[in-house]
Amino acid sequence: MNSKEYIAVASSEHFVYKAETNRPWRPETILELLEQAHQEFEKLMGPGLDTVIEVEDRMCESNNVGARAEIRKQIHFQQTSIIEVKFICEFPQNYGYTEQERELAYHFFVHELFHCWVGGNVSSSDGLIIEAITQYMTDLMIGRLGWCNADFLIQGRANWQEIVKTANLPHKLIAEYKLRFHKMYTNDPDRLFDFCRDLATCFRQQRSREKTDISPVLQQYLGTVLKEDQENNTEE
Ligand SMILES: [Zn+2]
Repeated sequence: MNSKEYIAVASSEHFVYKAETNRPWRPETILELLEQAHQEFEKLMGPGLDTVIEVEDRMCESNNVGARAEIRKQIHFQQTSIIEVKFICEFPQNYGYTEQERELAYHFFVHELFHCWVGGNVSSSDGLIIEAITQYMTDLMIGRLGWCNADFLIQGRANWQEIVKTANLPHKLIAEYKLRFHKMYTNDPDRLFDFCRDLATCFRQQRSREKTDISPVLQQYLGTVLKEDQENNTEE
């Protein structure tokens, strides 16, 4: 197949946005969202990846809404250079006309961006924590920047409590971590932000490795929590 046909292509300082189909959002709107979030994430966690990120807004079947980030690394001797970063966000035709759908779409775009600081290969149990902090911080950020309303976030937290009670792993565990991060944020927001910054530093320092070891940071910030998890698990 030849290269894809896009009906919209637009770019900004850090991003190139390409859409396969008509969307209720304008390309400039997504670029604005991403640039704002990029700026906030840099303030919070230090410099991001030194590359222009390609964002593909693809069309999918109705039940396949989702997003992922592809980061292709080229590793030179003792030094990594990132050569290509692509976000692929997939939504069905006619998606995003309700407020809830639109806010979820915004979440997907910003979620993948957060993974440029905090994301990569880690052990599977650490992966759940990374997913939870990414979901939590993304909601927090789009809320603070005014891209979703408070009700959406409050409703989200009510859902996590429900998920903790009813769902199975891994969704149950991710929701539990999100509730803990929310508690951390409520008690001492700077501690949660320090946690994100230290995680990002950890990923940055180990960028040339196949797998990132984040256990010292988890131990420092969630030490007692992790111990509780183990105790809870052994009770069963
Ligand atoms: Zn994720």
